[in-house]
Amino acid sequence: MTPPRLDIDLAAIAHNSRLLVDRLALKGIRVTGICKAALGSSGVAAAMVQGGVTGLGDSRVENLGRLRTAGVAVPLTLIRSPMLSQVDLVVRDAEVSLNTEAAVLDALSAAAVRTGVTHSVVLMVELGDLREGVAAVDVVDLARTMGKRPGLLLTGLGTNLACQCGVVPDQRKMDELSRLAGEVEAACGVVLSVVSGGNSANLDWAMSTGDVGRVDELRLGESILLGTEPLHRRVIDGLRTDAFTLVAEVIEAKLKPAQPWGDIAQAAFGDQPPREGAGTVRQAILAVGRQDVDPDGITPPPGIVALGMSSDHLVVDVGDHDVSVGDELAFQLDYSALVRAMTSPFIAKVERS
Ligand SMILES: *Cc1c(COP(=O)(O)O)cnc(C)c1O
Repeated sequence: MTPPRLDIDLAAIAHNSRLLVDRLALKGIRVTGICKAALGSSGVAAAMVQGGVTGLGDSRVENLGRLRTAGVAVPLTLIRSPMLSQVDLVVRDAEVSLNTEAAVLDALSAAAVRTGVTHSVVLMVELGDLREGVAAVDVVDLARTMGKRPGLLLTGLGTNLACQCGVVPDQRKMDELSRLAGEVEAACGVVLSVVSGGNSANLDWAMSTGDVGRVDELRLGESILLGTEPLHRRVIDGLRTDAFTLVAEVIEAKLKPAQPWGDIAQAAFGDQPPREGAGTVRQAILAVGRQDVDPDGITPPPGIVALGMSSDHLVVDVGDHDVSVGDELAFQLDYSALVRAMTSPFIAKVERS
């Protein structure tokens, strides 16, 4: 496959899933694999299932539709609050959705009744990160109204931290979620089968705590796909970080002066960090750009330094490497770079198992 391309190692994804599933099982916690960064790839989803995740989740119902069509055999959860305009798709392609709005629940209920399905609802609680969630003081009241919505089943409570403001999912936050789960059960006379503690940022807490309380599920994306935890972006012990590799092709390789010349104003994407050094550098240009990948999220091979990126050109200093036109160079990606690369129609995705 010609570059630029993303090489996707499904064995690495299965390995990472298996290690996390096994470690969390010791704590009584199941894993829902979050594949939103993989755009509904059935290969990535299957690797997660092979690694033991008990469900799959995505923030886009279109991706879940793709997984549904591919015949994925585990329950599918929509992890972003459904758009009112998409409730019919949601009850068709997801068994579960995470919810915070009464109006959306009303519409989901009507859609479920129309199509004769039962749709499960996990209510999300705001615990301080200020993205989605019902205020803790309101969650019992909202839960009480669920009985009046035919076609919907209240199955769980969840929260999401560390995504908007970097609020750490620690013992205090998880204890509060557990307490609220107990309150909802007592007030509504239901048993919640899911208490979803959060995302990959919860792993530090989950692995070190002696008391998971009611938390029995985590929704894991980044840790499975990249082997890192999002709080400090450390590599998780034993996990592989090479599941995704961006391969780009050299279209120019020349000795160039280290410093630009002429009056300096803004470049195509604003002010650029000044070039360092003097004399000449071996500069190469790769045919990939900001349209395809986040320039701050790529790591070149050792000995090669990224100098800058415009829409369609990535300029690197290749140091002592002997690089010629037509050569391929491989880059590691962080989550931000991965998401954009997966979404670029110019980047081929090559999965191997
Ligand atoms: C993206 C997302 C996740 C997964 O987060 P990771 O940090 O990739 O593990 C979990 N829950 C929700 C609601 C999300 O939006």
